[in-house]
Amino acid sequence: MENKILYYSTNRNLDNINGSLPFRRKVTFGEALLQGQAPDEGLYVPDSIPRISYEDIILLKDKPYAEAALLVTGAFLNDEIDAGILRKIIEDSYPFTIPLQKVFDRKYIMRLDRGPTASFKDFAARMMARLMGHFRDRSRRLNVLVATSGDTGSAVGEAFRGIEGIDVNILYPHDEVSERQKKQLDTIGDNVRSLSINGKFDDCQDLVKQAFSDPSLGHLNFTSANSINFGRILPQMVYYFYAYAQLCQKGEGIVISVPSGNFGNALGCEYARRMGLPVEKLVMPTNENDEFSRFLKEGEYERLSPSLACLSNAMNVGHPSNLARFFELYGGTVDRTGKVHVHPDIEAMRKNIYSVSISDEETKKCIKKTYDRYGVILEPHGAVGWRGLEVYLEQYGDFPLCVSLETAHPAKFPDEIVELLGIMPEVPDSMKGIDERKGKSLELPADYKIFKEYLIDNLKSGV
Ligand SMILES: *Cc1c(COP(=O)(O)O)cnc(C)c1O
Repeated sequence: MENKILYYSTNRNLDNINGSLPFRRKVTFGEALLQGQAPDEGLYVPDSIPRISYEDIILLKDKPYAEAALLVTGAFLNDEIDAGILRKIIEDSYPFTIPLQKVFDRKYIMRLDRGPTASFKDFAARMMARLMGHFRDRSRRLNVLVATSGDTGSAVGEAFRGIEGIDVNILYPHDEVSERQKKQLDTIGDNVRSLSINGKFDDCQDLVKQAFSDPSLGHLNFTSANSINFGRILPQMVYYFYAYAQLCQKGEGIVISVPSGNFGNALGCEYARRMGLPVEKLVMPTNENDEFSRFLKEGEYERLSPSLACLSNAMNVGHPSNLARFFELYGGTVDRTGKVHVHPDIEAMRKNIYSVSISDEETKKCIKKTYDRYGVILEPHGAVGWRGLEVYLEQYGDFPLCVSLETAHPAKFPDEIVELLGIMPEVPDSMKGIDERKGKSLELPADYKIFKEYLIDNLKSGV
């Protein structure tokens, strides 16, 4: 057996980041999962990347998604988790389909929008929740606190519903979520509670941060479930293998386009290539937040602050949190503020990755054109991905096998779709009846003292 994979911090070589000492130890997957972030505010990355043979990849053809998930996540987890338990976690995580919709020739849309909250975030959140349920300290409860401005909160809340030994509190800004989103967050129920905060998203995040660093709340055993957790990256490597195996002709490469915000989804593809998937090019289109495509072109990185508000609102990011992991993989270091300490090998990056910024105007045009020409309905995030792929192919010439990701269901954006296409997208089963669901949030002011009282009075610490 090879050496066990351990995880270290992307900040391990940086002195004096926000006054904290660099964290130089390595931790197990279980520890990285429960801690979320390293103590020096760096991101955990694996110290080696397992390989999957080409023969094993193509054996996934016509197999259920769970087989792909077992092969890919098992390569990281085999030393830490029993194969039978991992299989059960996976089967429980993915009771839905992953359609590969042909657009033309061998150009496909992979629809990652059939989970319970109709966003690709279900893939990562559901598996992470079950892994946490497995790795948690059984002698005490685990309390998850999440601050959210929308889709992440409902995906995470749904993912943890019914997981034994874990309770979840979701904080969202009262005036900054849509009615539909509010309904989604308030009606999860069971072990998941929503708190409607009279303030902004930043207030919610501050409340959570203060609670995490409050020594008098240590007994509540908090954890976060946010997007920088490596436990959310791992499940996002799987669908690239799955798609390739279903669509490939033996030996060929694939171009994959991933509409990108915090770069967690695209990072899954970068790891997949390093594990042996023949990815010819990883296309990472963004909306008008163009800091990454400018960096690839000009070689100097500058975060965008504040970020721009675009139609594809889940990708409104001016400094992607997972950029630190991309830099690490290419020999560089960038910290949480966007300061570059060591430059990555940009020529190697350019060889593997292409990025382009797609304006809101182009996004709308793409939604309309793709429907008119091919009868395929895209929502704004998926349209950024598809248009990015088109731009890449226009610039570099055709490539036979291409897949672009659709990361949310069009029914989540009814106003845009009706305005552009004049039709109402069909609502997936997971979203049916949502307006009739019952449930209520607890309203709280953006005041730490009151929030703390709520936590002490309501959260459980024992089993
Ligand atoms: C979060 C999200 C994205 C961006 O994914 P990253 O991993 O942050 O790059 C794209 N589309 C939708 C619908 C999302 O919710």
